[in-house]
Amino acid sequence: MVRPKTEEEIELLRENGILVSKTLAEVGKIVAPGVTTLELNRVAETFIRDHGAIPSFLGFEGFPAALCLSVNDVVVHGFPSDYVLKEGDIVSVDCGTLYKGYNGDSAYTFPVGEVDAETQKLLDVTKESLYKGIEAAIHGNRVGDIGHAVQSYAESFGFGVVRELEGHGVGREMHERPGIPNYGRAGHGPRLVEGMTICIEPMITAGSRNVYLARNGWAVHTADHKKAAHYELTVVVRKGKAEQLSTYDFIENNVKF
Ligand code: MG
Ligand code: MG
Repeated sequence: MVRPKTEEEIELLRENGILVSKTLAEVGKIVAPGVTTLELNRVAETFIRDHGAIPSFLGFEGFPAALCLSVNDVVVHGFPSDYVLKEGDIVSVDCGTLYKGYNGDSAYTFPVGEVDAETQKLLDVTKESLYKGIEAAIHGNRVGDIGHAVQSYAESFGFGVVRELEGHGVGREMHERPGIPNYGRAGHGPRLVEGMTICIEPMITAGSRNVYLARNGWAVHTADHKKAAHYELTVVVRKGKAEQLSTYDFIENNVKF
């Protein structure tokens, strides 16, 4: 049984959620053709440290950077590099913070300049599948209800749902129980209880759902090298409606900070 968080713990997770949300927006401001992914990483690391927090991914199981930056056919866990973003690319920016002993963890996939219609559809459907998952994250439901909501939505557009990776509980540890798969059977799996804090993070592919691990042991690529998108938000399970602890408002609604 997973212990639900206290309201005090939830407040600390919210502070982290807001910081990762603002960091993603800072990064998003400079995503453009001609920018390297190393530059995105530098902006994020500076912003996180300037706010008195630690970039939690850096050094996590040996990960070498503050952000996972995953371009095009890289699903997740890409390393920043001297790769220069070009018009039509997409880049998943996954960010983690450690602040006051708790963790923030969220991701957003940005288009670089103008992307083609199919790519835009992949982004839109992946983000909407995340919100479908959040709608299912209510007290009394089960983990399988979240996965079922994500999967049935994404697959209805003919997209693939990556199964090798999943969302997770979050708290003092970045990855806590339960795992939150992006596929599943409604009514199955661990029960969701008010106060559980979880990261839901659909990883959706334009083609086959099959993936492979790069030789560096980190980057996960689509087997057919078609594009993949990844969005992640942190929520707290509540009665009736989940409460978001991170948000895309800073990116999409021009909320000032
Ligand atoms: Mg993440
Ligand atoms: Mg995560």
